[in-house]
Amino acid sequence: MSEELNPFAIAQRQLDEAAATMGLSSSTHELLRWPMRELHVNLPVRMDDGTVRTFHGYRVQYNTARGPAKGGIRFHPNETIDTVRALAAWMTWKTAVLDLPLGGGKGGVVCDPKPLSQYELERLSRAYIRQIHSFLGPDIDVPAPDVYTNPQVMSWMLDEYETITGRHSAGVITGKPLPLGGSQGRAGATGLGIVVTIREALKMLGMNLQGTTASVQGFGNVGRSTVINFIKVLGGHVTHISCWDNDDRKAYTYSKKDGIDADFLLTITDPYGTIDKDAALQAGYTLDDGDAWLEAEVDVLIPAALENVITAQTADRIHSSVRILAEAANGPTTPDADATLNERGVYVIPDFLCNAGGVTVSYFEQVQNAYGYYWDEATVHERLDDKMSAAFRAVHEAVQGYGVNNRMGAYIVAVNRVVEACSLRGWI
Ligand code: GLU
Repeated sequence: MSEELNPFAIAQRQLDEAAATMGLSSSTHELLRWPMRELHVNLPVRMDDGTVRTFHGYRVQYNTARGPAKGGIRFHPNETIDTVRALAAWMTWKTAVLDLPLGGGKGGVVCDPKPLSQYELERLSRAYIRQIHSFLGPDIDVPAPDVYTNPQVMSWMLDEYETITGRHSAGVITGKPLPLGGSQGRAGATGLGIVVTIREALKMLGMNLQGTTASVQGFGNVGRSTVINFIKVLGGHVTHISCWDNDDRKAYTYSKKDGIDADFLLTITDPYGTIDKDAALQAGYTLDDGDAWLEAEVDVLIPAALENVITAQTADRIHSSVRILAEAANGPTTPDADATLNERGVYVIPDFLCNAGGVTVSYFEQVQNAYGYYWDEATVHERLDDKMSAAFRAVHEAVQGYGVNNRMGAYIVAVNRVVEACSLRGWI
């Protein structure tokens, strides 16, 4: 991976810029540039054919000054320690910008879960927890789902942890199914939060909420919940969706001029977010190259997949109609592309603000687990909207106060809060 596209180098570069703007001392800056703790684990897993395969995994606890480390676990063939470090750093800024009493962490296992059987996936999930359990706990580090993990994987992980420790502790992991202590509204929380930030951005720009158009990359948990909320809550139209074919090598863009039918597309989409091409063509969808979503003539562009999709090269292909870039994915935009977008006046909703709805409802899930008392969906949605709107306002104030772009505004709010906690603890 080139240094330019190394997600951790990018995360550090973003922090460096914030540190310079804020005038952080060099010792504080150095503390925040690196994870506080990271685990590298080897996971021997018995496959269905009787052989043993060893997988590699990581858990990074980036900063825990504000509370237990918090962040998802990703299963992906391209996972690297630097990707996990970057994601853990962004989790630290994400929980801080939302003012949640949590730190930041992230986990990853280098694997392609698609060809694994359910039994193999279960053994892999349990093996990961066996290796890291002593560094987890409701007051230590609390994982959750991320790319290619889901509530079933969380269930196996919870069960492994509780079997080892010999007690129930629902709060050790979030994104659980409802019968195991999950929260109402968690599955769609990231998408709803994204749409709340888009709504606030549209208001800020004096644009109509109804009839807004969007093009989306990704139809996994985040992509689909964003699309559904964009259509149903905001009253907009999603005209393009891009997703990977099931080998993760080639992507396609599916489009319909008057807007896609999300409910229908979900009936022809697999659990990993791959749409069935033939069924989509038969239903009258236009099929284009995977990158076509980027060039769509829409108001809002929503990358909801992986890192580094908006680069210096691809940023120039974005249509002049695009007013808002809503970063549903973590780290979708490289610093060079950021500069281009700023010059063009695109309103960027930075990732760790835009997609913080998931971790916010994870936090609500922890609160409910601690009390053993559960809220209804309307309560979750209302509290999520309040939290996201407050964070949006805090970032906007920093943008105005410091005269910086939105990403830097979000960094300034988050880093200030983390620095305050580090300082009160006497770390700096
Ligand atoms: N994986 C999600 C994220 O990147 C959710 C993390 C969580 O709920 O802890 O924000």
